[in-house]
Amino acid sequence: MAHKLLIHGADQVVMIAKNGERSLSGDFMRKLAVINRKTEEIGVSIAVDRNGKIFAVGTDDVVRDEIKDFQFQRRIFASGMSVIPGLIDAHTHPVWAGDRVDEFSLKLAGASYMQVHQGGGGIHFTVDKTTKASTDELYTGLVNRLNRMLRCGTTLVECKTGYGLLWETELKMLEVINKAKTKEIIDISTTYCAAHAIPQGKSAEEATDDIVNNHIPRIDELMKSGRMSVDNIDVFCEKGVFNIQQSEKILRAGKKIGLNINFHGDELFPLNSAKMGAEIGATAISHLEEISDNGILEMARNNCVAVILPTTAYILRLKAPPVRKMIDNDVVVALGTDFNPNAFCLSMPLVMHLACVNLHMSLEEALVASTLNAAASLKKSHTHGSIEIGKYADLIVLDAPRWEHLVYQMGEQDRVIKHVIKSGDVVF
Ligand SMILES: [Zn+2]
Repeated sequence: MAHKLLIHGADQVVMIAKNGERSLSGDFMRKLAVINRKTEEIGVSIAVDRNGKIFAVGTDDVVRDEIKDFQFQRRIFASGMSVIPGLIDAHTHPVWAGDRVDEFSLKLAGASYMQVHQGGGGIHFTVDKTTKASTDELYTGLVNRLNRMLRCGTTLVECKTGYGLLWETELKMLEVINKAKTKEIIDISTTYCAAHAIPQGKSAEEATDDIVNNHIPRIDELMKSGRMSVDNIDVFCEKGVFNIQQSEKILRAGKKIGLNINFHGDELFPLNSAKMGAEIGATAISHLEEISDNGILEMARNNCVAVILPTTAYILRLKAPPVRKMIDNDVVVALGTDFNPNAFCLSMPLVMHLACVNLHMSLEEALVASTLNAAASLKKSHTHGSIEIGKYADLIVLDAPRWEHLVYQMGEQDRVIKHVIKSGDVVF
């Protein structure tokens, strides 16, 4: 059987890393492993085996010797083009019914997130619509969004539940995500996020007990019986939502059944959740607009990934998270769209643009944060996030000789993308 794919003659291949690094921090985020065209005749090649994994990468002359007279199902001559790893979106809420376009205009008129939330809008509006929606309706919506993400270059995405809050709807959301995980092209990392808000009529304490004593044991059973795979546990650790003690209780219970701790912290009010997360072995913490200096040091020391969400701070006009300080202190920084009905953005290239302009990240840092480091936030950087031998051939071929065009061509990013490749198959 022929091998899957040979890309050859490219002007540039951005490997990100070349020594099997699982994440990059500090100065290393600016030192990308890049292979550039050698001469006018000799570009850069990537060869993909029949299992969809990369088995050779280098200049055309070197790779030619390695592939000898192998057959390939498809060849792409990429002269004038560049290739980067598929983008990884480290934080999304993609399963829901009912949009919140009305709320967007309220917020433009000055309402804060918490004002909308307390007025019966926000999460509870979506919870109501999602609870009433059928499984099929939710699945159709999810697949539409996943395909749009794929078009924008995302090949691995973290997907949260969290618009059910109560077990029945949370289970429905898990089933919808699980179906997409087995049927759709894009790779998915599933996050259980019933602790996204306090269900109406319950206290935070009651909601915590319900999740710890009822939801998590049921998830454990579903996972053990092989009916479902769930990867991460999440909590909205925030003043007026779940406090530090409640958050810690839920996260520890999730960890006990084998889930990775990956939660919302220090977004609107400083609770020092970064410190708590680092202490209980969190893989990643998202938002961190209000992280303390001590929290930054704890995250760096414990190799806990900071998932930064530039769209949220931009749409809600929050203060920007101190990303420069995090990078300068060796915190592993990743990026995500935070796609949800409050922040409707599916595009990682646009997120990278916002990260560069509003959060003062360099182009290289934004790319590492959207590939290898995002993979690390999902414990998948041994198989995803860089163009290295043995990893999945999740690639984007850009119709530009240098990769920076993907971020530079503002608002037109999806037009810079020529092909999206998932495990060696051209899917767009
Ligand atoms: Zn979120």
